[in-house]
Amino acid sequence: MAKKKVILTFPPALIEEPITYNLIKNFNCQINILKATVRPKVEGRLVIELNGSREAVAGGLDYLKKIGVQVEPLAQEVRHSKERCSHCTACIPHCPTNALSVDREEMKVSFNRERCIICEACLPVCAYKAMEIRF
Ligand code: SF4
Ligand code: SF4
Repeated sequence: MAKKKVILTFPPALIEEPITYNLIKNFNCQINILKATVRPKVEGRLVIELNGSREAVAGGLDYLKKIGVQVEPLAQEVRHSKERCSHCTACIPHCPTNALSVDREEMKVSFNRERCIICEACLPVCAYKAMEIRF
């Protein structure tokens, strides 16, 4: 069995395509959608986990590339540097899973790695470079 987390970026022409359906039906992949963002007429972005036999996952990824989907591997890990974090809370509204949360009484930001889907939304908003990505 193979498992791959990838970021798919697709152009407007492919936004209506049943891409995940095709991956399941034609390539025997199991799909777990971790995040989906669509900007109509601009682009679509999906973060997915592909599961299946090695051949199924390879075939699915090959299909995506052939139809013009940009496929990037998802980073392995996001880390929160307690030393650099100023607890400014700028990252909190950008985190879709509450992996970053704030204790309002103490005004302290904490990071729950288990909840992080490695969407990278927190990285550009942290002026202190306290959120780091590891590949
Ligand atoms: S934006 Fe950066 S410095 Fe501010 S709370 Fe989040 S991780 Fe800490
Ligand atoms: S990468 Fe950052 S914004 Fe995305 S889920 Fe993880 S902590 Fe939250």
